[in-house]
Amino acid sequence: MGAKADGVVHCACGNRHWGHAGAAGVLAWENPTDPAIILQLRAPWSMSGGTWGIPGGAIDFDESPIEGALREAKEEAGMGPVRVWTATKLHHPDWSYTTIIAEASAGQKAVVTDHESDAMEWVSWRDLRGKDLMPAFEQSLPLLDQLLGRSLIVIDKNVLPEGWEEALLKRTTFGFSLDAMAPSRAEKIELALSRSRDGDCPRTITWFPDIVIVGDGPLLKPHAVRGALPATIHYCSEKRDVPIDGYDSITTVGVSLPGSKALDPNRFTDALFSPIADDLTIMTSPGTQQSTD
Ligand SMILES: [Zn+2]
Repeated sequence: MGAKADGVVHCACGNRHWGHAGAAGVLAWENPTDPAIILQLRAPWSMSGGTWGIPGGAIDFDESPIEGALREAKEEAGMGPVRVWTATKLHHPDWSYTTIIAEASAGQKAVVTDHESDAMEWVSWRDLRGKDLMPAFEQSLPLLDQLLGRSLIVIDKNVLPEGWEEALLKRTTFGFSLDAMAPSRAEKIELALSRSRDGDCPRTITWFPDIVIVGDGPLLKPHAVRGALPATIHYCSEKRDVPIDGYDSITTVGVSLPGSKALDPNRFTDALFSPIADDLTIMTSPGTQQSTD
């Protein structure tokens, strides 16, 4: 069992928050063309009780935010495995909140499985504003709107420097920062970030795209977060084999594909080999934590 970190934090921001190791929640979506998400009606006794938010709660001391969010969503909403595509972390002086933006498995039901919720529903993204939303969740909607959906990054193997295999595997485990995203998309997200401000508290964004490498390569098996479906890594010998259907955002590095947003290979290389910051650390199996260096 995890080391429980339940309890109230008196934060230097002047507010009280839940969870001594921070808190996290899962924004689980389905149907990328007209998305719906799982919303939770919070029990009256909880913080922001009686409003709608996403399932989640306090992270345990020995969990990553992703693990904590997935565990809480399983406890509260019976959530099965999800594909984590993006995570955004709001950094308060003495606390943090991480939103895990993830695609639900097919057939996932919205059900109440513990006493912390009064209801659980699939709600269309278009109809969200009609609900009495949890204030912090409502404030982050402009950003979350930009982060919903599937991402693909297509890389020409010829532009990758030595040591890329290991570095890439680490990134499927720990995620990419905005630096590895096509500038035109990153700018939109930066703009949404500025509209989703919570005082002076900074936010970080991490994304976990599917990856296609154009050119033969060794078999790479990305790790899965416990409770999460892994990213996929494909190889294609021909550009025309790249499976781009079903993705909302395609970033290309050193290759050109219809509908893609190009990223400078040097910028990608810098992002690939830059130190992995933050703590979206993923455990590959109980007790074996990946090192971040
Ligand atoms: Zn605070």
